[in-house]
Amino acid sequence: MAGSSAPRIGVLALQGDVREHSAVLRELGCEVVEIRLPAHLDGIDGLVIPGGESSVMDKLSRIFGVAQPLREAIAAGLPVLGTCAGLIMVAHHIEDAIAGQENFGGLDVTVRRNAFGAQVDSFETSVTVAGMSGPALEVAFIRAPEVTAVGPGARVIASLADGRVVGVAEGNIIGVAFHPEITGEDRIHRMFLNVVAQRSLQRPVALDA
Ligand code: GLN
Repeated sequence: MAGSSAPRIGVLALQGDVREHSAVLRELGCEVVEIRLPAHLDGIDGLVIPGGESSVMDKLSRIFGVAQPLREAIAAGLPVLGTCAGLIMVAHHIEDAIAGQENFGGLDVTVRRNAFGAQVDSFETSVTVAGMSGPALEVAFIRAPEVTAVGPGARVIASLADGRVVGVAEGNIIGVAFHPEITGEDRIHRMFLNVVAQRSLQRPVALDA
């Protein structure tokens, strides 16, 4: 973010609802970069991993050679917002993964894929998010994962009325099981941009010679 006021946010653009996330981010004043190749990661302040299909994102990210650079960038502290399949991509453990499915890691949680049923079982509901003011979030669940275990490093940030965990955070990473980007909701993205802004403040400032 140094030298420019607009945060430069990558959206992993291999598959999934890239356009919807990009629109919310632009609306919030970000410069959006679509990420498909390792070179696209240069200079980004944060990354959004959209919803879609995690097993396909996994395969494509390996084919395009971006999986390992992403894994390293996330481990080094790159702020990430993962939604739905994007949450699956950053979880440490995946239940009901397809054979050989890999991901990027980052969040000390276990997620269960398709925990809320098939596409036809999609629904919209309200979600309470810790520390978020205003009305409850109205969001969509589409073949969504559930967080089934939260390790000591991670914390719960969102749950359903029945107690099921649908949002977690750890360090610079936020993962939510739902889609905040298709119901006109921007507070999860704002929360993420706060993480991005705080991280850029912590970076050493280059002093002019
Ligand atoms: N079930 C999908 C998966 O496993 C996620 C669905 C979504 O992102 N809407 O990746």
